Amino acid sequence: MNTILKRIDPRRPFTITAAGLKRITLGVVTEAGSLQDEALHSNHVPGQTHGGAAAKPRRTTQSARRTLLVVAHSERGSLDDHARQTLAAAALIADPHTQVALLVLGELKDDVAALGADKVIEVSAFDRRTFAPESELQALAACVAQLAPAHILMPDNATGDGDLGRRYAAYARASVATHVVELSATHVGVAVHAKKGFATRALPEIVLLAMGAVDSRLPFIGAGERMAMPFMTAAGATSAYDVYRDLGMEDIDAAQVALEEADFIVSAGNGVTDVSAFEKLAGAFGAAIGASRVAVDNGMFTRDKQIGATGKTVEASVYIAFGISGAVQHLQGIKDCRHVIAVNLDGSAPITKRANLTIIGETQAITTALIEAVALARSSSLAVSPPVTAAIAEGVAA
Ligand SMILES: Cc1cc2nc3c(=O)[nH]c(=O)nc-3n(C[C@H](O)[C@H](O)[C@H](O)COP(=O)(O)OP(=O)(O)OC[C@H]3O[C@@H](n4cnc5c(N)ncnc54)[C@H](O)[C@@H]3O)c2cc1C
Repeated sequence: MNTILKRIDPRRPFTITAAGLKRITLGVVTEAGSLQDEALHSNHVPGQTHGGAAAKPRRTTQSARRTLLVVAHSERGSLDDHARQTLAAAALIADPHTQVALLVLGELKDDVAALGADKVIEVSAFDRRTFAPESELQALAACVAQLAPAHILMPDNATGDGDLGRRYAAYARASVATHVVELSATHVGVAVHAKKGFATRALPEIVLLAMGAVDSRLPFIGAGERMAMPFMTAAGATSAYDVYRDLGMEDIDAAQVALEEADFIVSAGNGVTDVSAFEKLAGAFGAAIGASRVAVDNGMFTRDKQIGATGKTVEASVYIAFGISGAVQHLQGIKDCRHVIAVNLDGSAPITKRANLTIIGETQAITTALIEAVALARSSSLAVSPPVTAAIAEGVAA
């Protein structure tokens, strides 16, 4: 059975640095021939190498007889992690004669080949921030009429795709599975009875995939061809089908986002002394605030901010740990974070072994430098002042 499981290869290659730190060797081809880590993350175009890593092969070059359609909204020109996982899921279960087509509702600037798509249809007239369910439904129906996909895969999220998937299933009277946590070419699996049980069924026409079910890093690339669908124009996004009044979206303070749902977290430990500067940094980044148990026990943060074995478990794309040593109980709470950055005076603190990037430096200085850098980047688009870059560069350890 071709079941997709999220796994880390315990035998992946590593080197020991002069400071005694274990560093995973990224982008290396193992003896078994499988591609490793960062090469799988890279955004290089088909056929090019990236940082010395071998170019990834095309998933298939056979002619397509069948289509899997992935549908997702983009956010500021990019697919989020959940959408990327859904695209990867389709590419992983596709046989050599199956193409993976991606319908993007919104603008898309990502390298779609690297994400596993063979065809991409971009309908830039749509926008995740605009509620246009009927227009999106019509666009999806038109795309399905054109491509006749065997299955449709969508991220089961609360930001538009989950709603559209259910809406389309009802409209097309199609079979559907929601919150899918396990997937193969022939079946889906879902948790049932408040996650106390597990149920499987044959692959339905529409699969709404749960977050984290699939690793988005692929050992291959897709064809990445853009497809024009002339009938999907701006008019399609604002058609007369819409009978809803869109009241728009309200931005909330990032600090109010539940830590379990936050995509960007700045976290404070015992090495942070200026809480108000730290909160200012979180506000500048638009990041949620987390803390180590010591920082909570010290009374600097409330208990609901504690991350770790006896606190919250988080899955942020970016987790910046300021003055946190990286005790095993804390690391337990951040095991599913994608990019961990550590700011610490001690280059051999345990957190550095978990971190993808360590800045050896003083939390207060780095916090001030980052607040300045964000303000400057916002005011003068992308210019970053020399003192700021120097302050950060001073202590960056690879
Ligand atoms: C049963 C049990 C459950 C626990 N559960 C949790 C949990 O859920 N979450 C949790 O976090 N902990 C938990 N702990 C506690 C855990 O073992 C650690 O004690 C705790 O995580 C340490 O917090 P810290 O890293 O902030 O502080 P410290 O261990 O004091 O580390 C501070 C770090 O900051 C650095 N530093 C100091 N000053 C500066 C500066 N000015 N600039 C830059 N860096 C600086 C230091 O080099 C050090 O690495 C638990 C412990 C037990 C026994």
